[in-house]
Amino acid sequence: MKCIICRSEMRYSFSKLFAEYSLSNVDYHCCPNCGFCASKTHFDMDLKDWEVLNAKFHTWNNLRGNNSYNRNQGYFAQGLMLFLLNKHHLLGGHENWLDWGCGEGNLSILLNQYFDCNLMNYDCYIVPRINSVQASDLEKRTYDLVVSTGVFEHVRARKTLDEIESHVSIDGCLGIHTLVCGEIPKDPIWMYLLPVHSSFFTNRSMQRLMEEWGYACSVYNPDSKMWIWFKKPPEDVKPEIDKLNRNLGWEYLHFKQGFMDYWP
Ligand SMILES: [Zn+2]
Repeated sequence: MKCIICRSEMRYSFSKLFAEYSLSNVDYHCCPNCGFCASKTHFDMDLKDWEVLNAKFHTWNNLRGNNSYNRNQGYFAQGLMLFLLNKHHLLGGHENWLDWGCGEGNLSILLNQYFDCNLMNYDCYIVPRINSVQASDLEKRTYDLVVSTGVFEHVRARKTLDEIESHVSIDGCLGIHTLVCGEIPKDPIWMYLLPVHSSFFTNRSMQRLMEEWGYACSVYNPDSKMWIWFKKPPEDVKPEIDKLNRNLGWEYLHFKQGFMDYWP
């Protein structure tokens, strides 16, 4: 099994027994070079089985009264972050933004209701409630901002990551909400090993993706747990980030040339 980030040969790392959603033993493999980890079990699954697994899990998750994943608070924090970055002219206006894998479009709805920002929505499986874009209308290198929230951990192939990124304009931004840390714990009880999560990213693997795709610098906001990657050079981005942080009086955005490796 080759790493979908750096193409090195991955090695078996550990297994976890899931006694739910037709899953039994799931094998996780890790890349010795960039640290990226993946579930070989999920990567090898038939598309149909994988779709059924995701549908069952999300139906169960959405039906629960109290959602322990605090999705709505996350969307609000992400909306605020995009609004503030846009106020500082870092996202190319808000006429041309896309949420790839948006689900029902909750981030877009909040942006629309409270932040006067327009975010178009695309999802392969769910019809968004507003601002829906059909697959046939998605154009390459068109959007000043493409965001993906809770998508990267579900991917099973490099082509999906490349597809998401292919819609960002030549000097645009990519927004990513997923868990990224220094090392993936080789521990079956790690909280991020959900039945539907198949890809686990390290700081090194994200740095590699940034370089391959041509991104120069990034910011991270701990409230929204979202990164924004910029193709524009640091000298065009950092002064505005500094200004925003100065105005707010705390380090709201953490800036770095390359990937902002916030978590150890
Ligand atoms: Zn790798």
